Amino acid sequence: AVLPKILEKPKQTPPDPPLPRQNSKTAPPSPPKIITDQDKLVEFHRVGFLGEGGFARVYEVKDVRGTRLACKVVTKTSLKTKKAKTKLYAEIKIHRSLSHPNIVRFKDCFEDENNVYMTLELCHSGSLMDMLRRRRRFTEFEARFFLVQLIGACHYMHTHQVIHRDLKLGNLFLDSGMNIKVGDFGLAALIENPGERKKTICGTPNYIAPEVLFDTANGHSFEVDTWSIGVILYTLVIGRPPFQTKDVKDIYTRIRDNVYEFPPDRAISTDCREIIQHILTSNPQQRPTLLEIVGSSFIEFGIVPGFIPMSAHDVVPDFR
Ligand code: ADP
Repeated sequence: AVLPKILEKPKQTPPDPPLPRQNSKTAPPSPPKIITDQDKLVEFHRVGFLGEGGFARVYEVKDVRGTRLACKVVTKTSLKTKKAKTKLYAEIKIHRSLSHPNIVRFKDCFEDENNVYMTLELCHSGSLMDMLRRRRRFTEFEARFFLVQLIGACHYMHTHQVIHRDLKLGNLFLDSGMNIKVGDFGLAALIENPGERKKTICGTPNYIAPEVLFDTANGHSFEVDTWSIGVILYTLVIGRPPFQTKDVKDIYTRIRDNVYEFPPDRAISTDCREIIQHILTSNPQQRPTLLEIVGSSFIEFGIVPGFIPMSAHDVVPDFR
C-alpha cells in the first residue's frame, strides 16, 4: 500500500458514533513491542522512547538487520476528524518527496489496527534546542556551521515548492556527526501554483513571521522560513529568541512592531548583527534571499568549521 488506508478518501459511510468520553490525561496505549508492517512483512522492535510532539509519539526501533530508526506513531483515535487526516496526509506526502543530507530521511509508512507509523532516519543527538539548554549559547563559528546546513536544506525545500513553516531549534535535529537534520513536516505546505499564497495561521509563537499574523488578506509564502532562520540565528548566538516574553500576545505585538534588542552583555560581531537585522525585516519582499544570506559578510568572511566535535554538546569547542 502506498498510503495507510485510514488516509484514503472517505467512503460514503454513516458518521462514527460519538466516542466514549476519554480522560485527556490518560496516555494512549503504547504501540506493540514488535511493530509489524503487514504488507511488507517486516518487523521493527521498539527499543526506546525518543519524544512526543503535538500529535505523535516517537520511538527508537530496530529492524531485523539491527539498523536503528525513529518511528513516529500517530494513534488512529487522533485521526477521527477529516482535518486531522488531511494534515497527516500532507505531512507524509511532503516529507516523503524530500531527499537531502540535512533533512530527516523519510523511510516508510504503514498502519496496524491502532496506529499509523512513519519510519524515519534516527537522529542520535537530540535537537539544537536540547543542546542550547546545556550550552546556553553558541559561538559564531558554530552558528555559521549550523546556518549553512540549515540554508542548504531550506533552499532544497523551496526549490521543491515546499515551505516548512515551523523551523525552530526544536525541529533541527542532529545526527551522530553533529550535522543538522530538519524534521517535523507537520505544518509544511506545498505551493502548487506559482505565486500561490498560503493563508493558514500556523507556526510557533517565537518564530512566526509578521505577515503570517498580520497580513492574512495577502497570505504568506517562502519568506516565512527566511524569517524563522533569522530568529534561529539570533537564538543561537544570544541564547534566547528575539521577541520572547511571558505573554504570547506580547510576543505578537513585538513581532508586529519589530521590537527586539541585542543585549549589551552578549558580544556579537557587527557582521552577525547586520545579517540578523537584514533577515528580520518586516516586509517579506525586502528580506534577503537564502543565497544572499550565504553570501553575506557573516558567512563569506567568517570561518565555517568543517565539522563540530561531539564534545560541543557540553563545552565550547576551540576552533583556533
Ligand atoms: P510532532 O509532529 O508531534 O510535533 P515531532 O516530529 O516534532 O512530533 O517529534 C516529537 C519528538 O520526537 C521530537 O521533539 C524529538 O524529541 C523526537 N524525534 C522526532 N523525530 C526524531 C528523529 N528522526 N530522531 C530522533 N528523535 C526524533
